[in-house]
Amino acid sequence: MRWIERVERFVFGAECLGCGNPSGKLDPWLCPECVKELERESRIDVNPGPEAYSLYPMRPLTRKLVHALKYRGISGMATYLVKHSASVRCGAVAEDFAMLPKPLFFVPVPLHRARFRERGYNQAEKIAAALSLAFGGKVCRWLKRKTFVVSQTKLSKEQRERNVAYAFECVLKNVPATGTVVLVDDVFTTGATTSACLAAFGRDFPLPIKVCTLLYDEPASAAADYAADNRVEWEVK
Ligand SMILES: [Zn+2]
Repeated sequence: MRWIERVERFVFGAECLGCGNPSGKLDPWLCPECVKELERESRIDVNPGPEAYSLYPMRPLTRKLVHALKYRGISGMATYLVKHSASVRCGAVAEDFAMLPKPLFFVPVPLHRARFRERGYNQAEKIAAALSLAFGGKVCRWLKRKTFVVSQTKLSKEQRERNVAYAFECVLKNVPATGTVVLVDDVFTTGATTSACLAAFGRDFPLPIKVCTLLYDEPASAAADYAADNRVEWEVK
Protein backbone atom coordinates (compact mmCIF):
# COMPACT_ATOMS: atom_id res chain seq x y z
CA MET A 1 0.00 0.00 0.00
CA ARG A 2 1.35 3.41 -0.92
CA TRP A 3 1.82 5.94 1.88
CA ILE A 4 -0.82 8.25 0.43
CA GLU A 5 -3.39 5.42 0.61
CA ARG A 6 -2.44 4.75 4.20
CA VAL A 7 -2.98 8.39 5.08
CA GLU A 8 -6.33 8.36 3.26
CA ARG A 9 -7.40 5.24 5.13
CA PHE A 10 -6.40 6.82 8.40
CA VAL A 11 -8.30 10.00 7.69
CA PHE A 12 -11.38 8.68 5.83
CA GLY A 13 -11.51 5.04 6.95
CA ALA A 14 -11.16 1.83 4.89
CA GLU A 15 -13.29 1.09 1.83
CA CYS A 16 -16.66 -0.63 2.19
CA LEU A 17 -16.72 -3.98 0.35
CA GLY A 18 -20.22 -3.18 -0.90
CA CYS A 19 -20.21 0.37 -2.27
CA GLY A 20 -16.46 0.96 -2.28
CA ASN A 21 -16.77 4.25 -0.39
CA PRO A 22 -14.38 4.94 2.46
CA SER A 23 -16.07 4.78 5.83
CA GLY A 24 -14.91 5.01 9.41
CA LYS A 25 -17.82 2.81 10.51
CA LEU A 26 -17.15 -0.51 8.80
CA ASP A 27 -18.37 -3.57 10.64
CA PRO A 28 -15.60 -4.62 9.51
CA TRP A 29 -16.56 -4.98 5.84
CA LEU A 30 -19.67 -2.93 5.18
CA CYS A 31 -20.68 0.65 5.84
CA PRO A 32 -23.96 1.20 7.74
CA GLU A 33 -25.90 1.86 4.48
CA CYS A 34 -24.74 -1.39 2.90
CA VAL A 35 -25.54 -3.32 6.11
CA LYS A 36 -29.08 -1.96 5.86
CA GLU A 37 -29.27 -2.94 2.21
CA LEU A 38 -28.05 -6.45 3.04
CA GLU A 39 -30.70 -6.80 5.74
CA ARG A 40 -33.34 -5.70 3.27
CA GLU A 41 -32.18 -8.21 0.66
CA SER A 42 -32.19 -11.00 3.22
CA ARG A 43 -35.95 -10.43 3.63
CA ILE A 44 -36.67 -11.01 -0.06
CA ASP A 45 -38.27 -14.40 -0.58
CA VAL A 46 -36.14 -16.67 -2.69
CA ASN A 47 -37.35 -20.02 -3.81
CA PRO A 48 -34.81 -22.27 -5.50
CA GLY A 49 -37.06 -25.32 -5.16
CA PRO A 50 -39.16 -27.40 -2.77
CA GLU A 51 -36.19 -29.05 -1.04
CA ALA A 52 -33.78 -26.14 -1.36
CA TYR A 53 -33.17 -22.93 0.56
CA SER A 54 -31.11 -19.85 -0.22
CA LEU A 55 -30.40 -17.09 2.26
CA TYR A 56 -30.19 -14.24 -0.25
CA PRO A 57 -31.14 -13.42 -3.81
CA MET A 58 -28.26 -12.76 -6.22
CA ARG A 59 -27.91 -8.99 -6.25
CA PRO A 60 -24.89 -6.79 -6.94
CA LEU A 61 -24.17 -6.45 -3.22
CA THR A 62 -24.57 -10.13 -2.30
CA ARG A 63 -22.65 -11.14 -5.42
CA LYS A 64 -19.72 -8.95 -4.35
CA LEU A 65 -19.71 -10.40 -0.85
CA VAL A 66 -19.73 -14.01 -2.07
CA HIS A 67 -17.03 -13.05 -4.56
CA ALA A 68 -14.98 -11.78 -1.60
CA LEU A 69 -15.55 -15.10 0.16
CA LYS A 70 -14.42 -17.11 -2.85
CA TYR A 71 -11.73 -15.03 -4.49
CA ARG A 72 -10.41 -12.50 -1.99
CA GLY A 73 -9.58 -14.84 0.84
CA ILE A 74 -12.19 -13.36 3.19
CA SER A 75 -13.34 -16.64 4.74
CA GLY A 76 -15.12 -14.87 7.62
CA MET A 77 -17.69 -13.64 5.09
CA ALA A 78 -19.49 -17.01 5.35
CA THR A 79 -20.36 -16.45 9.02
CA TYR A 80 -21.08 -12.79 8.35
CA LEU A 81 -23.65 -13.58 5.66
CA VAL A 82 -25.32 -16.34 7.69
CA LYS A 83 -25.54 -14.03 10.72
CA HIS A 84 -27.03 -11.16 8.72
CA SER A 85 -29.70 -13.27 7.08
CA ALA A 86 -33.16 -12.51 8.40
CA SER A 87 -34.43 -15.84 7.03
CA VAL A 88 -31.95 -17.67 9.26
CA ARG A 89 -32.94 -15.69 12.35
CA CYS A 90 -36.68 -15.68 12.04
CA GLY A 91 -37.80 -16.27 8.46
CA ALA A 92 -38.79 -19.18 6.25
CA VAL A 93 -35.46 -20.99 6.59
CA ALA A 94 -35.59 -20.84 10.38
CA GLU A 95 -39.17 -22.15 10.45
CA ASP A 96 -38.50 -25.02 8.05
CA PHE A 97 -35.23 -26.04 9.69
CA ALA A 98 -36.98 -26.20 13.07
CA MET A 99 -39.29 -28.89 11.62
CA LEU A 100 -36.56 -31.07 10.09
CA PRO A 101 -35.69 -34.40 11.76
CA LYS A 102 -32.61 -33.87 13.95
CA PRO A 103 -29.66 -34.02 14.06
CA LEU A 104 -28.75 -31.91 11.05
CA PHE A 105 -25.76 -33.08 9.02
CA PHE A 106 -24.35 -30.19 7.00
CA VAL A 107 -22.51 -31.65 4.03
CA PRO A 108 -20.40 -29.12 2.08
CA VAL A 109 -20.04 -29.57 -1.68
CA PRO A 110 -16.37 -30.47 -2.05
CA LEU A 111 -14.01 -28.18 -3.90
CA HIS A 112 -11.65 -29.17 -6.70
CA ARG A 113 -8.27 -30.01 -5.24
CA ALA A 114 -6.56 -27.36 -7.35
CA ARG A 115 -9.02 -24.70 -6.17
CA PHE A 116 -8.53 -25.74 -2.58
CA ARG A 117 -4.75 -25.41 -2.91
CA GLU A 118 -5.10 -21.94 -4.40
CA ARG A 119 -7.74 -20.73 -1.91
CA GLY A 120 -6.64 -22.48 1.25
CA TYR A 121 -10.21 -23.31 2.25
CA ASN A 122 -13.46 -24.58 0.85
CA GLN A 123 -16.06 -21.80 1.03
CA ALA A 124 -18.89 -24.36 1.24
CA GLU A 125 -17.29 -25.77 4.37
CA LYS A 126 -17.13 -22.30 5.95
CA ILE A 127 -20.82 -21.81 5.16
CA ALA A 128 -21.66 -25.25 6.55
CA ALA A 129 -19.80 -24.40 9.78
CA ALA A 130 -21.72 -21.12 10.10
CA LEU A 131 -25.06 -22.89 9.48
CA SER A 132 -24.27 -25.59 12.02
CA LEU A 133 -23.61 -22.88 14.60
CA ALA A 134 -26.85 -21.11 13.75
CA PHE A 135 -29.10 -24.19 13.70
CA GLY A 136 -27.19 -26.80 15.68
CA GLY A 137 -25.78 -29.87 13.98
CA LYS A 138 -22.43 -30.74 12.57
CA VAL A 139 -20.31 -30.42 9.47
CA CYS A 140 -19.84 -33.77 7.72
CA ARG A 141 -17.40 -34.30 4.86
CA TRP A 142 -19.40 -37.12 3.35
CA LEU A 143 -18.83 -36.22 -0.29
CA LYS A 144 -15.63 -36.37 -2.32
CA ARG A 145 -14.90 -35.25 -5.83
CA LYS A 146 -13.94 -38.04 -8.15
CA THR A 147 -10.70 -37.55 -9.99
CA PHE A 148 -10.83 -38.07 -13.71
CA VAL A 149 -7.73 -39.40 -15.34
CA VAL A 150 -8.55 -38.09 -18.80
CA SER A 151 -8.53 -34.34 -19.22
CA GLN A 152 -12.06 -32.94 -19.59
CA THR A 153 -11.04 -31.01 -22.69
CA LYS A 154 -10.40 -34.24 -24.61
CA LEU A 155 -13.92 -35.51 -23.97
CA SER A 156 -17.03 -35.06 -26.05
CA LYS A 157 -19.81 -32.83 -24.77
CA GLU A 158 -21.89 -35.87 -23.73
CA GLN A 159 -18.96 -37.44 -21.91
CA ARG A 160 -18.28 -34.19 -20.08
CA GLU A 161 -21.91 -33.90 -19.02
CA ARG A 162 -21.85 -37.46 -17.77
CA ASN A 163 -18.71 -36.67 -15.78
CA VAL A 164 -20.38 -33.70 -14.13
CA ALA A 165 -23.46 -35.76 -13.33
CA TYR A 166 -21.32 -38.33 -11.51
CA ALA A 167 -18.62 -35.99 -10.24
CA PHE A 168 -19.06 -36.89 -6.58
CA GLU A 169 -18.95 -39.99 -4.45
CA CYS A 170 -20.38 -40.56 -1.01
CA VAL A 171 -17.77 -41.75 1.49
CA LEU A 172 -20.16 -42.24 4.39
CA LYS A 173 -19.77 -45.76 5.81
CA ASN A 174 -22.51 -46.04 8.45
CA VAL A 175 -25.64 -44.10 7.72
CA PRO A 176 -27.10 -42.58 10.93
CA ALA A 177 -30.52 -43.89 11.99
CA THR A 178 -32.15 -40.44 12.07
CA GLY A 179 -31.51 -36.88 11.02
CA THR A 180 -31.44 -34.73 7.90
CA VAL A 181 -28.67 -34.16 5.40
CA VAL A 182 -28.29 -30.54 4.35
CA LEU A 183 -26.10 -30.09 1.26
CA VAL A 184 -24.31 -26.76 1.43
CA ASP A 185 -22.95 -24.66 -1.41
CA ASP A 186 -22.33 -20.97 -2.10
CA VAL A 187 -24.65 -20.38 -5.06
CA PHE A 188 -27.66 -22.25 -6.39
CA THR A 189 -27.85 -21.73 -10.14
CA THR A 190 -29.11 -24.52 -12.36
CA GLY A 191 -29.06 -27.18 -9.68
CA ALA A 192 -26.59 -29.29 -11.71
CA THR A 193 -24.11 -29.52 -8.83
CA THR A 194 -26.85 -30.36 -6.38
CA SER A 195 -28.22 -33.07 -8.65
CA ALA A 196 -24.75 -34.57 -8.95
CA CYS A 197 -24.46 -34.60 -5.13
CA LEU A 198 -27.88 -36.22 -4.79
CA ALA A 199 -26.83 -38.85 -7.32
CA ALA A 200 -23.81 -39.62 -5.12
CA PHE A 201 -26.07 -40.35 -2.15
CA GLY A 202 -28.10 -42.68 -4.32
CA ARG A 203 -31.81 -43.21 -4.66
CA ASP A 204 -32.07 -45.51 -1.65
CA PHE A 205 -30.43 -43.15 0.83
CA PRO A 206 -32.74 -43.35 3.85
CA LEU A 207 -32.46 -39.83 5.32
CA PRO A 208 -34.17 -36.74 3.91
CA ILE A 209 -31.78 -34.49 1.94
CA LYS A 210 -32.18 -30.70 1.71
CA VAL A 211 -30.05 -28.08 0.05
CA CYS A 212 -28.96 -24.74 1.49
CA THR A 213 -26.95 -22.06 -0.33
CA LEU A 214 -26.02 -18.47 0.42
CA LEU A 215 -27.30 -17.14 -2.89
CA TYR A 216 -29.97 -18.01 -5.37
CA ASP A 217 -29.13 -16.91 -8.89
CA GLU A 218 -32.47 -16.04 -10.41
CA PRO A 219 -33.08 -15.53 -14.11
CA ALA A 220 -31.21 -12.41 -15.22
CA SER A 221 -34.44 -10.54 -15.93
CA ALA A 222 -35.48 -10.56 -12.28
CA ALA A 223 -32.26 -8.87 -11.21
CA ALA A 224 -32.55 -6.33 -14.02
CA ASP A 225 -36.12 -5.47 -12.96
CA TYR A 226 -34.97 -5.06 -9.42
CA ALA A 227 -32.15 -2.69 -10.41
CA ALA A 228 -34.56 -0.64 -12.54
CA ASP A 229 -37.13 -0.47 -9.72
CA ASN A 230 -34.59 0.72 -7.25
CA ARG A 231 -32.74 3.06 -9.57
CA VAL A 232 -29.43 2.04 -8.17
CA GLU A 233 -26.41 1.91 -10.35
CA TRP A 234 -23.97 -0.72 -9.32
CA GLU A 235 -20.62 -1.43 -10.67
CA VAL A 236 -20.37 -5.19 -11.06
CA LYS A 237 -16.91 -6.65 -11.31
ZN1 LIG B 1 -21.12 0.59 1.64
